[in-house]
Amino acid sequence: MVSRVIPVDAFDLVIFGGTGDLARRKILPGLFRRYCAGQMPSNSRIVGAARSKLDGDGYRAFVTEAIHEFGGGRSCEDGTLESFLKQLDYVSIDARGEAGWDELADKIKDSKLVRAYYFSVGPSLFGDLAERLHLHGLADEDSRIVVEKPFGRDLETAKALNASLAEHFDENQIYRIDHYLGKETVQNLMAVRFGNMLFEPLWNAQYVDHIQITVAETVGVGGRGEYYDKSGAMRDMVQNHLMQLLCLIAMEPPAKFDPSAVRDEKLKVIRALDPVEPHQIVRGQYVTHDDSPSYRKAVNDPRSTTESFVALKVGISNWRWAGIPFYLRTGKMLAKRASEITVVFKQRNHSIFEEDELEHRNILSIRLQPDEGITLGVTIKEPGPGGMRLIDVPLDMSFAEALGEDGGDPPDAYERLIMDVIRGNQTLFMRGDEVEAAWAWTDPIIDGWTQRGEVPKPYDAGSDGPGDAEQMLARDGRSWRPISS
Ligand code: NAD
Repeated sequence: MVSRVIPVDAFDLVIFGGTGDLARRKILPGLFRRYCAGQMPSNSRIVGAARSKLDGDGYRAFVTEAIHEFGGGRSCEDGTLESFLKQLDYVSIDARGEAGWDELADKIKDSKLVRAYYFSVGPSLFGDLAERLHLHGLADEDSRIVVEKPFGRDLETAKALNASLAEHFDENQIYRIDHYLGKETVQNLMAVRFGNMLFEPLWNAQYVDHIQITVAETVGVGGRGEYYDKSGAMRDMVQNHLMQLLCLIAMEPPAKFDPSAVRDEKLKVIRALDPVEPHQIVRGQYVTHDDSPSYRKAVNDPRSTTESFVALKVGISNWRWAGIPFYLRTGKMLAKRASEITVVFKQRNHSIFEEDELEHRNILSIRLQPDEGITLGVTIKEPGPGGMRLIDVPLDMSFAEALGEDGGDPPDAYERLIMDVIRGNQTLFMRGDEVEAAWAWTDPIIDGWTQRGEVPKPYDAGSDGPGDAEQMLARDGRSWRPISS
């Protein structure tokens, strides 16, 4: 099956931080793939804007290398890269000074195309960029800005960032990226919930036993040690990515699939989250037993108390979910790279089959990575003449298999989200009040650790995390889905 490519209007996209790591690995190769798919009209322009002193040719050489290295050219024909490069330009600019701004204004000011500014720079520059765009007459009401994570490190800093952007841009011009929301399966989660009759009637405390959300990485902190140590798994992953997944799983059906309706419902979930008690959280730090460095060595601080793993039991106080635990877990250096949402339904209340001694539960599992897909565990009769014995088997919908080659290689999250920016669709971006509400819930948890002087539990690299995380679920008579399965 070939996926439909919906055309977008021609655009000018300025990438501040256009020579950075994110631009090189994700944004530029992603744009090239959209170009190959016919989604970048020939009068569109991409302007890299960064501190490096490069000219247009130098930038095109940089982009060529990025595309070769990060696979942007996979589905493109010969000669297409050259024509893509013709639509690229570069300005050497200083976000905090005057250098380069007149040149940028000359290049784009009179253009009537859709205009978007991607702030692919550290958040400390967001306010400066907004201010300079305004001063140079580039912050007109039709333009859009895309901002990267981290959006603050607590409620106070998030509010300050929101305020600095709000000075020159309205909320409907601001696109706060959480690339998890751009994943095919995350959107499929909404399609499964709200596009089928089958699930929504069961999607509540009466039929669901509990829900697990796991985002497991096999890599350590790598070269980001210093940055990561100031952040930790709670700030880096839970406050944004896991929180967004939780919202989509738990929210009420919006009246329409439009930005305000969807984001209103997500916000209601965050506001209904219970405070988390200390016994509902396990923090961990990885320890290695080979040549790779343990967490504390990797961040160069033998006393670091930052967590590289966190598991939480979260409650949502509303009519639909009261009493149903949501177990969230994320960490580095775990057994396998796997992101999965699992909805475990309740045990049926009566069995008519005499020979059936086992517990059978329907489990809906939504894999975000790797191998995006959805599996529903159902109970059937064991084949053969052995009587009425029941077994659980998966009904598997792997997108790669079901949708053929094209469906198996869906656009990267960044590609999809950038195209949404051009279309002016904010549904899959976080609104300012959502981000602030998420920090308002997260802050007391982190403050509690500091006040109590809590030290994370060590866990072995390559494991499923600290044993305490297993025990937290065992106390409830439940267990985590093994990460390595
Ligand atoms: P980077 O350090 O690799 O690149 C920073 C870019 O900003 C460079 O192009 C640099 O020239 C430019 N820059 C720095 N100071 C400037 C100034 N005063 N004026 C103009 N340009 C300036 O950073 P990165 O890894 O590309 O990350 C960019 C943003 O994206 C950060 O907010 C980061 O947290 C976020 N992010 C990055 C990743 C990733 O995978 N790299 C993932 C998620 C979010």
